[in-house]
Amino acid sequence: MTLPIAERMKRLGTETAFAVSLEATQLARKGKTIYPFHLGDMNIITPLNVMEAAIEAMRKGKTGYCPTAGCPELREALAKDVGVTRNLHLTADNVSIQPGGKPTIGKFILVAMNPGDRVLYPNPGYPIYESQVEFHGGVGLPYGYLEGSRGFVLDLEAIRKGIRADAKILIYNNYQNPTGASSPKEEIEELAKLAVENNLFVLSDEAYFDIRYSGEAMSIASFPGMAERTVILYTFSKKFAMTGWRLGAAIGPVRLVEYISKMNVNDESCSNHFIQYGALAGLQGSPEGPDYILTTLNERRDAMVERLNRIPGIKCFKPEATFYLFPNVTGAMKRKGVIDVEEFRKLCLYETGVSFCTRRHFGRPLPGETEQYIRFAYSGITLSQIDEGLTKLAEFLA
Ligand code: PMP
Repeated sequence: MTLPIAERMKRLGTETAFAVSLEATQLARKGKTIYPFHLGDMNIITPLNVMEAAIEAMRKGKTGYCPTAGCPELREALAKDVGVTRNLHLTADNVSIQPGGKPTIGKFILVAMNPGDRVLYPNPGYPIYESQVEFHGGVGLPYGYLEGSRGFVLDLEAIRKGIRADAKILIYNNYQNPTGASSPKEEIEELAKLAVENNLFVLSDEAYFDIRYSGEAMSIASFPGMAERTVILYTFSKKFAMTGWRLGAAIGPVRLVEYISKMNVNDESCSNHFIQYGALAGLQGSPEGPDYILTTLNERRDAMVERLNRIPGIKCFKPEATFYLFPNVTGAMKRKGVIDVEEFRKLCLYETGVSFCTRRHFGRPLPGETEQYIRFAYSGITLSQIDEGLTKLAEFLA
């Protein structure tokens, strides 16, 4: 008799964007030219001084275990950097180094959530929130974003409704994947007020805090009463183009962060030792670092938004942050006589080679949703590929 797999595995979700990536790769192997807009990976190389510092650390013998919570120098540097940019008083004790930004999601949920607890999370949103909440026995309360006249705005009413339904935890991703939404100060203020009044734990996913083209980034952790209830998901992945290095941190109240580190003792012992010295060099300043990366991404964003808005039936906002676009394609689908957005995705992929994800890769549609959206990532594509791919897409949809 086949041995049964544990029941909880039925509740584990995934990132279906990787399936789109696989489909596109298989087409490319058959000789089709693919324009990869599907994954938030980067084709920008990690700054040279970060690489050199990591190699130097290896040469100096930083190849064994390091403390579970991370190298003290890096924890201190991050406490200082995040403290200044978020106007928080932080010490190394508030920082637990992690192998990437993603591990903070599951670890935070295990520390803050009891089975049966209700958790507010964005939908459309990063699919790992829902996966981890349900996997660990929580109940998800998805809240959406509304299409306003200048971009996407938080559906605060849905959040209030979730709070009335006894939410214990709020997951909030300002500078949002996939919509590119940036909350104005008043929106964050209102959310912080709700969190304090209703005594919620908050996970502030700040993966794109530094991928911001205009204005100043703000963290919900900076608002009154928030520091003691908020864990920040920090990652080196995007700011320093280090997606494959796997380095990030959970930053927040010591009583939570200590447990998060204790989970690292159980899971990883420590994060990769020598790459922490690379990250430290990045924080100290990089000639090809964040400024260069932002300039490159900014050029791509401008080129894409301009071209997409010229296509009949597509409406695309220009986000101030992230490297994603979330155009409304309801009109374009109607023109092609397509009802299902997944069918639209496949049609575009097979006919033009332009590969993107859709709203469905970021959660089940919410009741009453009528508009159709797709998501483009421009972090892993060149300007000339953008030009060629979007020209083909425009011809196909004309
Ligand atoms: N949060 C969001 C919103 C993301 O988009 C991502 C990565 N795409 C992560 C967290 C995870 O980042 P990392 O690669 O550093 O684990």
